[in-house]
Amino acid sequence: MNVAELIAQKRDGEELTPEDLAALISGFTDGEVPDYQMAAFGMAVLFRGMTLAETIALTAAMRDSGDQLQWPDPEKCVDKHSTGGVGDKISLILAPLLAACDLRVPMISGRGLGPTGGTLDKLDAIPGFRSEMSADEFRSVVNWSGCGIVGATANLAPADQRWYALRDVTGTVPSVPLITASILSKKLAAGISSLVLDVKWGSGAFMRTLEEARELAESLIQTGSGLGLNVAALVTDMNQPLGRMIGNSVEVEEAIAVLKNEGPDDVRELTLQQGQVALKLAGIESDSARAIERLEDRLATGAAWERFEEMVRGQGGELSRLPKPEFPHVVEAEKAGFVNRIETRRLGLAVIEMGGGRRRIEDRLNYRVGIKMQARLGDRVEAGQPLATVFCDRPVWQYAAELVAAAFALGDQPVSPPPLVAEQLTT
Ligand code: URA
Repeated sequence: MNVAELIAQKRDGEELTPEDLAALISGFTDGEVPDYQMAAFGMAVLFRGMTLAETIALTAAMRDSGDQLQWPDPEKCVDKHSTGGVGDKISLILAPLLAACDLRVPMISGRGLGPTGGTLDKLDAIPGFRSEMSADEFRSVVNWSGCGIVGATANLAPADQRWYALRDVTGTVPSVPLITASILSKKLAAGISSLVLDVKWGSGAFMRTLEEARELAESLIQTGSGLGLNVAALVTDMNQPLGRMIGNSVEVEEAIAVLKNEGPDDVRELTLQQGQVALKLAGIESDSARAIERLEDRLATGAAWERFEEMVRGQGGELSRLPKPEFPHVVEAEKAGFVNRIETRRLGLAVIEMGGGRRRIEDRLNYRVGIKMQARLGDRVEAGQPLATVFCDRPVWQYAAELVAAAFALGDQPVSPPPLVAEQLTT
């Protein structure tokens, strides 16, 4: 294989064969294809795209880059995945909630990408939590608590593990075929049968418009079903953060509130919507209203919370030692008006500036920092009223607070926020 030639072919818009893509991915996984060539290839794909046949071949090659988990009851193995949003902590809630509905959720998740937070970084905020485990350890956590959440590892979808980190720092995240292959390869390696996708659109998502999000949702559905998955997608709003908290430990706290049947309405609502789709895909319920009742019951009885505690304990985490946010600084509205727009991406970037996300692969995170949102799209605020609070020490807090203030656009006219769920797509 001549990698420089493959990069040039993609740069020139040619269609690559499944054999070429398989050789590229196995070379990258084995360390024969260096990061700089893979980064250049990613940029060529970002500009030139891929056909469905190429995307399916790339996804299959990435799935096959490591082991694949087997379960005794694969039809009961489900998962969800979000394309990435700011404040999106739904995976932390939905995995134990579905486990409490007698499903098995072997979730393979990612770290933060660009301004969007990552489930693994949030879980790593829990002292002792092991988001990297061998396949055997992971299998025993899932068998014990019904769910487990780990990253792609040297064993499971290792090609995604390396490429994901590289894409994060080389501007090659927002590509429909690359996001598709990244998400689906790790999900397929986990041995699931059904997958619910949360495809985000808006100012805090990689897909800025509904049309782009729909394109990604369709790519995920066609590629997933081409590789044998039951798959459905919700296209959901990311024109403002999900919930009130953005960061790592603060988002774990908010997820715990929802698991204890409290927490913000939008987080709960989106969890229930994704959950009902999962229960239907897995054949547990055929009716949406009944599926939602089942999920609400598991929240109200504490069954979902119990599963979460078991999972965290099984993965070595100590919830009682979750870091608390400190050094609050309030960001006030400079004038009165209605919140017309929130540049949600900037809020994610503010968290990165505070040390809660990465600029380089090797960056270590500060799990305590974060933002609490105190105004939402459409709200009326008066001059001096808090828009948000940043939790961060000197000297960064001032710059972070400026980024947060600049994320809010106030106007004279009220606006209605977009619906939380814009549409649902199935095969
Ligand atoms: N989530 C993933 O797992 N991969 C991507 O590329 C984007 C979001």
